[in-house]
Amino acid sequence: MKNKNGLSQPNWDLKDWEKALTIHVGAAYMCRTCENLVMVTRGGVGVLDLKCCGKPMEKANASD
Ligand SMILES: [Zn+2]
Repeated sequence: MKNKNGLSQPNWDLKDWEKALTIHVGAAYMCRTCENLVMVTRGGVGVLDLKCCGKPMEKANASD
C-alpha cells in the first residue's frame, strides 16, 4: 500500500520520526543480567542498540 508520496510508511511524517528516534540526555539503560548501567550523556537522533550479556539493555528510568 502506498500513499500519495509513494512511501510505504503511512501517517508518519518527519517530525513523528524525529520524535520517535530522539535520544534524550539522562536516559539510562540497564542490563538485567549483570546490572550494568549506561547513561546517555549526549542527545541526538537515531537508534540506540545497546547490548550487554548478549541481550538488549532495558530503559532504566522509564515512567512505565
Ligand atoms: Zn550485562
